[in-house]
Amino acid sequence: MADGSDFEFAANSAPVSAEDRAAMLTEPGFGRVFTDHMASAEWTEGRGWHSARVMPRGPLSLDPAAAVLHYAQEIFEGLKAYRTETGDTVLFRPDANAARFRKSAERLAMPMVSDDLFIGAIEALVKADRDWFPAGPEGALYLRPFMFASEAFLGVRPAKEYRFLVLASSVAGYFKGAPKAITIGVSRNLNRAGPGGTGAAKCGGNYAASLVAQAEAIEHGCDQVVFLDAVEHRFVEELGGMNTFFVFDDGSILTPPLDGTILPGITRDSLMTLARDEGVVVREERYAIDQWQADAASGRLRESFACGTAAVVTSIGKVVDGDTSFIIGDGGPGPVTQALRERLVAIQRGQSNDPHGWLKRLF
Ligand SMILES: *Cc1c(COP(=O)(O)O)cnc(C)c1O
Repeated sequence: MADGSDFEFAANSAPVSAEDRAAMLTEPGFGRVFTDHMASAEWTEGRGWHSARVMPRGPLSLDPAAAVLHYAQEIFEGLKAYRTETGDTVLFRPDANAARFRKSAERLAMPMVSDDLFIGAIEALVKADRDWFPAGPEGALYLRPFMFASEAFLGVRPAKEYRFLVLASSVAGYFKGAPKAITIGVSRNLNRAGPGGTGAAKCGGNYAASLVAQAEAIEHGCDQVVFLDAVEHRFVEELGGMNTFFVFDDGSILTPPLDGTILPGITRDSLMTLARDEGVVVREERYAIDQWQADAASGRLRESFACGTAAVVTSIGKVVDGDTSFIIGDGGPGPVTQALRERLVAIQRGQSNDPHGWLKRLF
């Protein structure tokens, strides 16, 4: 199944016309433009995975008692397919997304999805919708594999039926108008995740829990919210959907450790590897919010940035914490952040060598 060839293919009989597609791809933004197809598979207890197919993208028919609608048994992934300058279509570390999807599934008491099913579904979908890559340097197909409990049952236990789907969305930049550095607001009262919770799983519930804090941050003029640890309300964890890094005057970089409340980002891991390749000292340590402010004031802290598949690497220029705020560096994107971003993007776009074998060529 690894090459997607085991997926039945039911072509969309009313695809978007080439003309309309071209119009949709001129300014796709993020997560608004969807392709003609989706990949789908079903899981039933006793039978396992079956009915793998690529089919026209469209509304689902779901029993209103479907467990996901009541108890939120749902997980997802996010990765991008890129078109390189040589015309190859590639995925970036899809095996890492597949492995993380299994970890999330385990935490949410859901069935395992093999690499073959996970990557095969993506491959079959990207092949079907290969005409949906936007032009331009940030253009990509953002892939959204997800799985939810479809069994109609209101009792509380892991469901016995699941659906696995992959959507593809044509994307350009994540932040509208690509701001040079973002402003983030500290959430003092609301937590994203606590010890023993689901913070390390990529599940919709974590996002549901983060939305009020995100909305509050936006009300206060910020682009994103940053969460602190749920126990001491001191240590910086991550944004609603991005990991955080700190760059110091001695050239070292720091990112909070994966202690179960932080999502293990593949961008985070890739940037740590690239930095270490270049001899940079990378520490995974807790970092307190008051230390962040003090280090920004003293100049010991030079840069901060957020990272994730959707927004890649984004500088944090300003932090708003209640009535106070502080600027990082000169408030603009810093050189270490930009260099790391460029190094990563060059690999993803096939513009430089790929020393860790992160690209998987599809066709
Ligand atoms: C997906 C996600 C990230 C980033 O992970 P990547 O693998 O780098 O895309 C960070 N934090 C949260 C909460 C996420 O859901």
